Amino acid sequence: MGSTNYYLIFFYSIFFFLTSCKDSKEYRIDSSFTDYLQRFENEGSARGRTFNPQANGLIIEFGNLSNGDAGLTHYETPIRIQIDKTYWDAISKTKGADWMKEDLIFHELGHGLLGRKHLNATLENGDWKSIMCGGTKVDNRSWNINYRGIRRSYYLDELFDESTPSPGFASMQLPVDTTGYAEKLFLSFDTEAKVNAGWPITEDAKHKTSIDNGRLCFQSKIDSVFMVLASTSLDVLSNFSYQLTLQYPSGNSTDQYGIIFGSVPSGSDVGTDPVEYFTVNNNQKMYMGNRTWYSFFTELTIPAIVAGSKNTLKVVKIGTMLYYFINGIYCYCSEIEVTSSGSQFGFLVPPKGTVWVDNLQISVKGSSPAIFRMQQTKQLEFSIQTTDQFKHNQVKNQ
Ligand SMILES: [Zn+2]
Repeated sequence: MGSTNYYLIFFYSIFFFLTSCKDSKEYRIDSSFTDYLQRFENEGSARGRTFNPQANGLIIEFGNLSNGDAGLTHYETPIRIQIDKTYWDAISKTKGADWMKEDLIFHELGHGLLGRKHLNATLENGDWKSIMCGGTKVDNRSWNINYRGIRRSYYLDELFDESTPSPGFASMQLPVDTTGYAEKLFLSFDTEAKVNAGWPITEDAKHKTSIDNGRLCFQSKIDSVFMVLASTSLDVLSNFSYQLTLQYPSGNSTDQYGIIFGSVPSGSDVGTDPVEYFTVNNNQKMYMGNRTWYSFFTELTIPAIVAGSKNTLKVVKIGTMLYYFINGIYCYCSEIEVTSSGSQFGFLVPPKGTVWVDNLQISVKGSSPAIFRMQQTKQLEFSIQTTDQFKHNQVKNQ
């Protein structure tokens, strides 16, 4: 007998007391996340799934995560989700914050409340198949997911039901008629005469433009991205087709070059202007996005891209949608993010990069080319601006 057994009983009692008192149904949600949790419950409810985290317990809190993680789900009782504060604050400053936050919280709740694991498959058009993408990288692809517009309802369906069929937007069959467009502006850069070149031939400490064998050559001498734009009479809110041939033969293979359109007022603060972009690099990657966002919408591998050689990028806007083509091949469709008027069309030049461009063509739907063809008879206004704020971030792991 002795006192030892009493001590043991005493300690066991304390142990059971403590464990039974640990609140396995603790419900603690940082106020930053309550709205997104409610949305998750609503979307689940609309799909026949009910949760009761208030009764069953759930913790969603901020943390300082490492390893490039944006969020982390701990399989404890209750489920505990940590969201990286630095990342959350960074995306909060951008226009796409609400969708990016929803994507992040829903992903973690997919782990925590739905028991889902990572799924890194892709759809036919190259989009991630699921917002449950994450974990071990696939071909070093960024986790950027185009979680917006027509895609959202599909991704929600898929989140709650993995057997959701492939959505219409993923089809590689062009869903619209993009024929019957007539040229409104065409710049061939065939001669150095300013009016014929249709572009200022200039040089200063930051850049140099020249006409080289019937193409415009733009050489950057600085570490910022150049936005080179022509002011036109066409509003990007209307329907149009914009095409440009670019070549970026040297430089880093991950450098992005391509076309831009929208509105860039002159002045120093050009970081938040609604400029839409469509870029490629010499690793056969394609990106699309808007400068007001944290980063590009998604990254695609496009075999039609010819590394280092001439690539013709074309975007056709019909209604709210943009249809993307590379070298005549339909690649992708997605909503335009620009909602305010703008009539500038141009291209991007990587830091210290040299880009050759040719055959800038802007067209609108119409029957008679003669009505619209401006050719180079009218002097255009141009702007050449630099920016350090072209956001090519990679979305963090979830
Ligand atoms: Zn995850």
